[in-house]
Amino acid sequence: MPNYHIWTIGCQMNKAESERLFSLFEESGYQFVPDVADADLIVINTCVVRQNAEDRAARKLQNFKPFKKARPDMIIAVTGCWVESNTDQLKKRFPFVDYFFKAGECPPWVDRTKWSQALPKEPQPATYVPIIQGCNNFCAYCVVPYRRGREKSRPLSEIVCEVKELARRGTREVTLLGQNVDSYGHDLPEKPELADLLTELNDIDGLYRIRFLTNHPKDMSLRLIKTVAQLEKVCKSITLPAQAGSNEILQAMRRGYSIEEYRRLVTEIRSEIPDVGLVSDIIVGFPSETEAQFQETVNLLTEVKFDTVHLAAYSPRPGTVAAREMADDVSADDKKRRLTFLERLQENIVTEINAKLTGKTIEILVEGKQKGKWYGRTGTDKLVFFNDDANCMGKLVNLRIDLTSPWSLQGTINY
Ligand code: SAM
Ligand code: SF4
Repeated sequence: MPNYHIWTIGCQMNKAESERLFSLFEESGYQFVPDVADADLIVINTCVVRQNAEDRAARKLQNFKPFKKARPDMIIAVTGCWVESNTDQLKKRFPFVDYFFKAGECPPWVDRTKWSQALPKEPQPATYVPIIQGCNNFCAYCVVPYRRGREKSRPLSEIVCEVKELARRGTREVTLLGQNVDSYGHDLPEKPELADLLTELNDIDGLYRIRFLTNHPKDMSLRLIKTVAQLEKVCKSITLPAQAGSNEILQAMRRGYSIEEYRRLVTEIRSEIPDVGLVSDIIVGFPSETEAQFQETVNLLTEVKFDTVHLAAYSPRPGTVAAREMADDVSADDKKRRLTFLERLQENIVTEINAKLTGKTIEILVEGKQKGKWYGRTGTDKLVFFNDDANCMGKLVNLRIDLTSPWSLQGTINY
């Protein structure tokens, strides 16, 4: 039986696409091996959202070169956002690679019909389901629309069928994925919205929870917020990247909303969905960002108190508007200092938020075991560990929270 290995870096969409590749190879009779030296087929699924992710992929690929030299029959393939339509440069730089195929596309040596039906035989309790590919937004800093193309929604009935099948095979929670899930359906003939999809998925037997990400502050509707509030299975967790706290920077980033509009949206979400978990993304050191403008991001985080913030230092990406038209004029030291400041601030904020959960009973979906302890997530997406002798995998359990930290919680099962 031939062996395969997949290496993945980057966002949830990459992870979802790698999961699909796993299923496809398993279906085709391949066996996963953790050590690349034993593999007959290696796929690396890459990310180029920031330079350091691209550098890691390049280093990884170079490491495979000796294996290929020793075993020329080994197949090496590269996918993910590194692969552009024109692969000439990559082919020149990495001549030992057999195939380059674009993110989310069928591997060129595989039958297309198999690709569209590739679902895990025994899926994890929590599984990703892409619902819309690509992005039409062209934020000034972002390479994604150049690599993943324009928005393309999957038909609603296809997603519902897939989730029913996943639930039948053991999935208990799905996370619906898209660069901008609020755009879901606008390109389909019936123009369904994300709220319609959530309503249909909510009725699926055996499925306990539904999540979705990422929302775009310029597009999120009141109808969606009310739907999340009403539907029992939809987790009360919203990923709403702010990116910056200053209007000048938001405008330069071409985000399409003001910080006042963003704050109003947060107020609306919190009034419709009390105790919602809020997640945001922030970039520090975008071209021309002054200390005063950075302070506006500090104010935003201090006032909103997000449950999670993904922080990144601006990294110029070739081909984007920011890289073409704006000087990368915030020094590396200033970027680092701003990043560290926000990391500490956010750690203090989450310490406080999580401490309030001590003594409360919270439902989690158990996703696995780590170092002898079961773990799972709350509806608001907080990681919780607990001990129990029973097999809790894939079950919803009520835990009394005993200990909290900024990164995870510990609880005791409440029978
Ligand atoms: N579609 C989502 C949105 O609208 O925010 C996120 C997609 S993007 C691939 C994930 C995150 O990477 C972004 O939210 C942003 O914070 C970060 N990012 C994207 N381009 C970046 C860049 N050039 N430098 C630093 N961070 C970047
Ligand atoms: Fe990138 Fe903006 Fe699209 Fe998100 S919405 S993927 S940040 S262009």
